[in-house]
Amino acid sequence: MKINSLTRLYCLIGNPISKSLSPSIHNYLFDKEKENAVYMAFNIEKKDLENTINGFKAINVKGFNVTIPYKIDIINFLDQLSYESELIGAVNTVKIDNGKLVGYNTDGLGFLKTLEERNISLKGKNVLILGAGGAAQSISLTVANEGVKSLTILNRTVSKSKKLVEKIKNRFPEIESSYGSLNEKYIDLKKFDILINCTSIGMYPEVDKMPIEINRFNKNVIVYDIIYKPLETKLIKSAKKEGMIAIGGLDMLIYQALLSDEIWLGRKLDIEKTKNILKRRILLENVEDI
Ligand code: NAP
Repeated sequence: MKINSLTRLYCLIGNPISKSLSPSIHNYLFDKEKENAVYMAFNIEKKDLENTINGFKAINVKGFNVTIPYKIDIINFLDQLSYESELIGAVNTVKIDNGKLVGYNTDGLGFLKTLEERNISLKGKNVLILGAGGAAQSISLTVANEGVKSLTILNRTVSKSKKLVEKIKNRFPEIESSYGSLNEKYIDLKKFDILINCTSIGMYPEVDKMPIEINRFNKNVIVYDIIYKPLETKLIKSAKKEGMIAIGGLDMLIYQALLSDEIWLGRKLDIEKTKNILKRRILLENVEDI
């Protein structure tokens, strides 16, 4: 990588960001595409968010990613929102064009891309989402937008799953949506076609935990766990043991990053091929470093 006076700067802002894979992914992509660009991550305090954005504009930063905890706060500083970011109510990608800030959200699109490459359609399906945090919000609204038949959201804090379902009902009244507690013992899980874990249960270091018992589902359920650390959670391992289709979170993570690059560079990239190369590189590295 050669840095000179024409090198364009792209950034990540969030707190914490020290474990982020984003710099590795974007700098690999810029290098591969022979773009004179570099990607840097910055740990930002909330009180400094506005100054940071103004600084980015002043020094002609071309775009940046936004991660926890600023995906919603950032909207206050933007001039325009994409359809997906408006739908989800959060932004993870910003493009700066002649001083104008446009917000995008590639989290849901990254998730959809992983289903598309496996020829899995959400249309008419009964979907169960576990969790009601930031990721659950992105995925549930994305899934609703794909025309599912029903959507059930279970969360430890039931008031949060209720609030999320109210949002879905407002926007998609045609979908049978319902909410409940993650500890729900009596709900019939056999009706679900797809289970998506959006809680952090099973995430490193608590790798022996599972958000739900897999044997309560039909054998043909598709099990998706968006956790990528570890790369195979206990939920994914249990689903595979039962012969179920099981998808982990790494592909989604890489796709959402590469979709940001397409937005910034303003052109289509071979993101399938690049995702597979990046996945192999990440798998070869020490999993604990993700
Ligand atoms: P978040 O906003 O903090 O939400 C965390 C969710 O997990 C909430 O629903 C929370 O329930 C639940 N939870 C946490 N600990 C729990 C416990 N001990 N028992 C029961 N429920 C618990 O986090 P997030 O951003 O949505 O991320 C959630 C997970 O998805 C993380 O593991 C993250 O790494 C992963 N993720 C992956 C990708 C990807 O690209 N693959 C993208 C984003 C996130 P309460 O509401 O009750 O607190």
